Amino acid sequence: MTYVWVDIFVFLIGLCVGSFLNVLRVRLPLEEPFAWGRSKCRSCSETIAWYDNIPLLSFILLRGKCRKCHTPIGWMYPIMELITALLILATWCYFKSPLPATLYTIGLIAPLILISFIDLEHLIIPDVISLPAIPLAVVIQLIVSPWPWQQTLISSGIGIAVGGGVLALVALTYEKIRKQEGLGWGDVKLMAWLGAYFGWQGVIVILLWSSVAGTIIGSLYLLLSKKSAQHPIPYGPFIAGAGILYFFYGQLVVSWYLRLVL
Ligand SMILES: [Zn+2]
Repeated sequence: MTYVWVDIFVFLIGLCVGSFLNVLRVRLPLEEPFAWGRSKCRSCSETIAWYDNIPLLSFILLRGKCRKCHTPIGWMYPIMELITALLILATWCYFKSPLPATLYTIGLIAPLILISFIDLEHLIIPDVISLPAIPLAVVIQLIVSPWPWQQTLISSGIGIAVGGGVLALVALTYEKIRKQEGLGWGDVKLMAWLGAYFGWQGVIVILLWSSVAGTIIGSLYLLLSKKSAQHPIPYGPFIAGAGILYFFYGQLVVSWYLRLVL
């Protein structure tokens, strides 16, 4: 029974983290300072009271509108809070240990959610997130991994090189043939980052999953929305989604696959 209360507590913390990620999502692409200043309505500039700033609950009570000017708040807020809370709860349930759960939440899950939403909205992956995330990933692997540190370091190094290298090659080839940027360099850094966590084997699975999902969902979106094939589709959310899926189920899928072929 006590475990249920811990899970609920973790979920509530997750909602608060999601609320903080929303602040970053809105302010980072505008290059606004995000460490200070109360949240304001984007439309009427009214400072948002604490009771209107409770994750998820306020959105429901306010029916998704600003209390003063009734401008819609936007669906991204509650969706991001809910996804963050569920994934942080899943990370907690996966480890059932505060240290790895906290480290992977800060170093992997939360920033992956953040860049997915920013990429969806603005088609960019800010360097301020993806670049420091790479050395942080190496440090976290060194702390958490049961292997000798030399082995962990080599695995992360090769993962960074393979993840970043393969996507850089794809990006450069595309630019040469089509004479335009098809794959952003943000995607390259993102894949290098995941390589630091999951090594070259993991990064290859993530490349495969993200490209298949990106092609299917991207084509469906273009078809249904009747947009031209030139319409840009963010690849970041697919890489991030595949990375999170691999984080939870990678070992399972790889061992299942190995049993199938061997
Ligand atoms: Zn307002």
